[in-house]
Amino acid sequence: MSGINIFEDALDRLKLIAEEAGINAEVVEALSHPEALIKAALPVRMDDGSMRYFRGYRCRYNSILGPTKGGLRFHPQVTIEEVQALALWMSIKCALVGLPFGGAKGGVEVDPKTLSPMELERLSRAYVRAMADFIGPKVDIPAPDVYTNERIMGWMLDEYEAIKRIRAPSVITGKPVRLGGSLGREAATGRGAFLCIQELAEREGWTPSEKRVAIQGFGNAGYHVARLLQEAGYCIVALSDSKGGIYSEGGFDIESIWHHKRTESAMRGVYCEHTVCELVEHEQIDNEALLALDVDILIPAALEGVITVKNAKRIRASYIVEIANGPILSAAEPILEKAGVMVVPDVLANAGGVTVSYFEWVQNRSGYAWTLEEVNQRLEEVMSKAFNEVWTIAKSEQRSLRSAAYIHAVRRIGEAVSAHGTREYFASS
Ligand code: NAD
Repeated sequence: MSGINIFEDALDRLKLIAEEAGINAEVVEALSHPEALIKAALPVRMDDGSMRYFRGYRCRYNSILGPTKGGLRFHPQVTIEEVQALALWMSIKCALVGLPFGGAKGGVEVDPKTLSPMELERLSRAYVRAMADFIGPKVDIPAPDVYTNERIMGWMLDEYEAIKRIRAPSVITGKPVRLGGSLGREAATGRGAFLCIQELAEREGWTPSEKRVAIQGFGNAGYHVARLLQEAGYCIVALSDSKGGIYSEGGFDIESIWHHKRTESAMRGVYCEHTVCELVEHEQIDNEALLALDVDILIPAALEGVITVKNAKRIRASYIVEIANGPILSAAEPILEKAGVMVVPDVLANAGGVTVSYFEWVQNRSGYAWTLEEVNQRLEEVMSKAFNEVWTIAKSEQRSLRSAAYIHAVRRIGEAVSAHGTREYFASS
């Protein structure tokens, strides 16, 4: 990561866009302060009998539109600033796609790859013990993010229900289907990004087979978008994870690489038929080189702050679709704009995850489960509407898609702030 205070960077971007669009200063002020922030020490008994303390955070950023919602990240570089930035972006995202939620986020400073499965379970439960009075189905609802998954959400739900002595599946989303999770949630973030690319293809008039794609971060979201793009005819020429990347001029078979990564914990250019895998000619590349590849669509799907003023001029893609939250630092944005790179911003491109999390919460609260077709169809409706609204503002007000997305979201939050009365109302009465 860049070493920049990512929360200040996020606030600067918000203020700049709001000022340019003439958004009420009181609304911007309301969005400049997280409502509540908790930092906790999480005691975990390790397998060797020792006790370790991990630092955990949860931020409820802004609840004017509803209970707060946001993922939980396990990563060694989690900081309080990062958690606040991610929670702010969640507030913008939920407002943008019209969900009755505010934004939140959580994190634990840990490298989960160094823990045994039982230590990971104890850490997940310790997090919920620390946060049990801070989260809740009508207050703040966590979900998975980087290096957390549905099994971890299942442990957390179990711990919450044991503490509260009630059944409360709607306290957490992204949990296993048998524990009340929604069909389609696991693929939802990748699917939402894929739907944005389809909307873009329609407006820009291209056919999938013409386009070459590079994806940084072949995790949950990166895998699903890659799979859907390949099914639609796109050529995925580069993929990476935390250990490095692979490039092949002719493209990769996504299912084979995913299978290989899961079984061997390594990424190589392979093609597998049944259980037999053959090596496909490919080049090993690092994550920096992946960003600079001569591709049409670049999809950062790992961490924030990877595109900076230093490397922005090396980007050769015409389109960047941000699945990761905050992959482009605000200072790098004008460089990309000048070079004519169109950016589909994180608050739109990765909103499929929180949208299906909302569907999961609705299903839990109504006690009625939807089919996969219903989930995917409703997701498509939400994404298509949001994309269209952002596109329309961008065209009619001559703005970038990010600026249009922020304006749309902040205007919605502004309407809720005004409903309580602002300076203009009180000063004139
Ligand atoms: P994940 O843990 O499943 O995958 C993350 C991937 O990124 C892994 O393959 C990891 O190896 C790779 N990675 C880590 N550090 C890297 C680095 N320095 N360079 C390249 N790759 C690196 O996480 P995910 O759920 O797929 O989330 C990915 C991004 O999408 C995050 O920014 C997250 O906030 C965002 N996001 C996720 C969701 C969701 O529902 N999962 C929703 C919205 C946004």
